[in-house]
Parts: sequence; structure tokens; C-alpha cells
Amino acid sequence: MPSARPVFVVTGPSGAGKGTLIKGLVERVPGIEIAVSATTRPLRPGEVDGREYWFLTDEEFTRRVAAGEFLEWVPYVSGHRYGTLRSEIDRIAEDGKVCVLELELRGAVTVQDEVPGSVTIFIAADVPELERRLRDRATESTGEIGERIELARSQLEQAHLFRYMVRNDDVERATAAVAAIVECELAMSESSALRPRSGRLSG
Ligand code: 5GP
Repeated sequence: MPSARPVFVVTGPSGAGKGTLIKGLVERVPGIEIAVSATTRPLRPGEVDGREYWFLTDEEFTRRVAAGEFLEWVPYVSGHRYGTLRSEIDRIAEDGKVCVLELELRGAVTVQDEVPGSVTIFIAADVPELERRLRDRATESTGEIGERIELARSQLEQAHLFRYMVRNDDVERATAAVAAIVECELAMSESSALRPRSGRLSG
């Protein structure tokens, strides 16, 4: 549908604060809904199946890949797989809501290439800050934190692949910036849906 609202993709390295900024976005801009991804990684304390992720077994994930249920999926540094279910995006659009995805970089590039009108926002943070956040979270094994930090360093150089970049050095400021991008893009898509398809503005 040409007048469909954009799908927003928030991407960036692990530890950049994507989740926090998305929560802030949901509080500030009405009508936003976060698509729940599927993963094979184990639940962290406090997480709930169907809220943070759909936590699937390896077999179930493989079955759904074969059934074509994923828009995209990736194996992550941990060896666990993460993927975006097409059904989540359809459900959110059918409810008349605006869909936000939180994805690592490869998934974000795939969605940017395959979903017309998708809007990508790269969240950046300084490496020492990323490292501190990952260690504070301390949910991964030390080896895996090292891998995530290495990955984060190389990912920070790929910001140019995406439409927008927001530096998360101050959560309030960064949340306001993400909300402004979303509101602006929504306003643009609404005004282009109203624009006549052909003809001149003045005779
Ligand atoms: P975490 O294990 O910290 O929840 O997530 C690890 C990484 O996977 C994060 O960078 C997160 O954005 C990414 N991720 C979460 N869901 C998906 C998904 O559906 N597809 C892709 N490509 N990445 C995802």
C-alpha cells in the first residue's frame, strides 16, 4: 500500500541503549508498538516469553524459518538466533499502530532493503560507555561480553549505512531526538498520502 505508515528500525551495537530509547519513544509518541522478535537465547532474569521475545527452541526456530515466517533472521555472536516474524509487523499494521523493530545491523540492513518506506535509526555510544553498560548488565559470560564489545567497535563504523544516527550520550536528549525523527517521518508520510498522485499544483 503506497500510503502505509513507515516501519521504524532502531539499530546499533549491543549496549548502546536501543531498548531504553525505544521505551522512552513509546511513552512520548502515541500509537507506537514494538514488534516482539523471536530468539533461541535463554531468558534473562525478569524477562517474560512474548514480552521481550518469543523464546523458541532451536527446532521451533528452524521450523519457522523453513515455513517462511521470518522477514529476516541472523545468528548472533552468542551462537543464538534472532529473527523478525512477519506476523508481528502485519498484526501491528492491522491494529492501526506504528511498528518499531529493534535489530542488530545485518537485520536492519535487510529490512531497509526489503520493506518499502522503512526508516532506520542507528544508535551510537562511545566504546568505554558501551563496555560499561555491557559489564553492568553482566548477563552474558565474560567471553561473550568481550565478543560483543569487539563487535560493537566494528559496528560503530557502519552508522553511515542507515538513514539517521543518534548518539546516546544523554538518555533524555537521545530519546527526544528519536521521538522527533519518528514524529517528523510520520507527518511526512501522512502528508504524502494526501498529495494527489498526478497533476500540477498550479495551472
Ligand atoms: P539481546 O540478546 O541483548 O536481547 O539482543 C542481542 C542483539 O540482537 C541486539 O543487538 C538486538 O537488537 C538484536 N535483535 C533482537 N531481535 C532481533 C531480530 O529480530 N533480528 C535481528 N536481526 N536482530 C535482533
